[in-house]
Amino acid sequence: MPTFAELGLPEKVQAVLRDVGYETPSAVQAATIPPLLEGRDVVGVAQTGTGKTAAFALPILSRLDLTQKAPQALVLAPTRELALQVCEAFEKYAARLKGVKVLPVYGGQGYGVQLSALRRGVHVVVGTPGRIMDHLDKGTLDLTQLRFLVLDEADEMLKMGFAEDVETILADTPSDKNVALFSATMPAQIRRLSKKYLNDPVEITVKGKTSTAANITQRYLTVSYPQKVDALTRILEVENFEGMIVFVRTKNETETLAEKLRAPGVWTRSVSAGSDSIVM
Ligand code: AMP
Repeated sequence: MPTFAELGLPEKVQAVLRDVGYETPSAVQAATIPPLLEGRDVVGVAQTGTGKTAAFALPILSRLDLTQKAPQALVLAPTRELALQVCEAFEKYAARLKGVKVLPVYGGQGYGVQLSALRRGVHVVVGTPGRIMDHLDKGTLDLTQLRFLVLDEADEMLKMGFAEDVETILADTPSDKNVALFSATMPAQIRRLSKKYLNDPVEITVKGKTSTAANITQRYLTVSYPQKVDALTRILEVENFEGMIVFVRTKNETETLAEKLRAPGVWTRSVSAGSDSIVM
């Protein structure tokens, strides 16, 4: 893996990464940061947990023009929760860059606070497509100077019915803007969006983080149905353990198995929805 310095991030941004304890870039960051710093469009197939927020936030922060008052970066996110999370990430990474203003814009929040912040001037807007469209319709959000547009969790935005809003925003913002599109999956609708609105994008696919903790060993045995209890009994005999949870498919089976595993010194308890019987 390259270092953050080798990816071309400015020293102030590298210093923040040291402050927050990031030692090396994640795979999506290593693949995405250099092209975004160069102004290339990017399509990334990456899930939450891969470090994708920093993958777009760091190059955007590195390229902001802090003298520009009209919003220059817009991140579209499917939910208010994600919008707020992305805002917090931007603020964290901007800790050593003086005066960067980031504004969350989502439905359900009063317009007042959003309008006064927009009037004072913000560099980065992170919002849900519906509320961003409302501001565009009211003429309260000026995207004529937009330089960066990020679609975060694009597949989720389409699933939530934001396809038309996302497309309108893509079409109605400056055509020379830098676009980054992130999605956990790449359905045809997103391929089409990417083809239509992105300019020769760099395509990146990053595997999700494994969901298993490193200190858990997984093993499996293939046995026929009638041999399952015998096999499990053998495992119980040879393994050293204090307690064990056995999952089965049906409520009936929890009881049958608990009964079969009954042995001197072993307490078995079957637990299933609607029943909780102790077998001793
Ligand atoms: P994300 O996929 O953007 O939701 O990020 C997942 C988590 O990984 C967040 O808590 C980040 O703070 C953290 N993270 C992102 N990049 C790095 C990195 N290079 N090193 C360590 N942690 C990171």
